[in-house]
Amino acid sequence: MSSHAFTTDGHGRCPFMPVFGAPQVMFERGQGTVLWDTEGRRYLDFLCGLAVTSLGHANPVVAEAICTQANTLLHVSNLFANPVATEAAVRLNSLLAEVTGEGGQVFFCNSGAEANEAALKLARKFGGRGRHAVVSAYGSFHGRTLATLAATGQPAKHEPFHPMPDGFRHATFNDIDALAAAVDTTVAAVLLEPVQGEGGVLPADPGYLRAVRQLCDERGLLLIMDEIQTGFGRTGEWFGFQHAGIVPDVVTMAKALGNGFPIGAVWARTEVAGLFRPGDHGSTYSGTAIATAAANAVLQEMHRIDAPHLARERGEELVGKLQTVPGVASVRGVGLLLAAELAEGIDAKAVYASALEFGLVTNAVTPTALRLAPPITVSSAEIDEAVAILALAIQEHLPA
Ligand SMILES: *Cc1c(COP(=O)(O)O)cnc(C)c1O
Repeated sequence: MSSHAFTTDGHGRCPFMPVFGAPQVMFERGQGTVLWDTEGRRYLDFLCGLAVTSLGHANPVVAEAICTQANTLLHVSNLFANPVATEAAVRLNSLLAEVTGEGGQVFFCNSGAEANEAALKLARKFGGRGRHAVVSAYGSFHGRTLATLAATGQPAKHEPFHPMPDGFRHATFNDIDALAAAVDTTVAAVLLEPVQGEGGVLPADPGYLRAVRQLCDERGLLLIMDEIQTGFGRTGEWFGFQHAGIVPDVVTMAKALGNGFPIGAVWARTEVAGLFRPGDHGSTYSGTAIATAAANAVLQEMHRIDAPHLARERGEELVGKLQTVPGVASVRGVGLLLAAELAEGIDAKAVYASALEFGLVTNAVTPTALRLAPPITVSSAEIDEAVAILALAIQEHLPA
């Protein structure tokens, strides 16, 4: 497929800043797991806009909540309260209380990076002057703002933007000794993903996360879990950290929380949350009614369908079927956040392109692996269809 003229202004000029690669498809409409492009072609969406539309496209409950709210009240600022944001905060707190056993408070924002920014500022309030550093993992992804980029453990992404903000360091993922060695008296917090999503769908070892929790307790550090990609049932638990049986101090969330409506959130244990004073942080759209209406609908609907349980069941099904596909060397990941590692000599980008041509949306998360993150509401029939398409796509690229 050559690059299309989808995103031009009619004079061959692209109206967007060139930060993204040339798109191969223009999607116009979606329903559940299915997407249709502008030519009316049908695709199975096994990516969900990067683990965002976990309840499927045009989910009727979420759509109804957004429409009703749009006709009621969009926004009033944080000088005033609105009942929708309060309901969403209470819902989120009770979910976090259920899985951590801790009371806490939330701050709403508009994206994952903003949730991590808030968490990083909270870590600085926690550490105090001279104790502001945050250790995260190599291979991690925490966002694109300057501070979250600095926290992101991918030096190549820093390269064009030096100098990076001060106070960030990185340690090898899944290596407790490396993490311990990176901690000195200037460190306030550890920031980790329970599964490195952008890094290639690499789960943290439960034993590693338990050792991290112990290290944080011993050295008096905050443990911040970045659940932006893994949260809300995606891994077969409400949050990825539950697989290790640990309790973090701070949890950052976004992506699936709005099922495509932009919203992020950071939760912290009450004592930690209380370190913020009025004026320390904020955002025009924090707790805006329209976004929190979407979040309320998502949380209600995910409870109703028992999203973690569904993700676990469908995940096992998908893993089992992927393992039978010729050219798939192994499958890794948790729940419905999976990567199919291809056999030697098969280029993931080429398979991705063929799968897309045959009507399956995936993502070449590394040069040798495809990321699969279908909606949690995906059906068994859709899993069968997707695996069949993937098998055909791989077949096109099997080494001679
Ligand atoms: C997507 C993602 C982010 C950034 O979220 P944005 O909404 O793009 O700012 C941060 N951390 C993780 C783990 C992510 O997957």
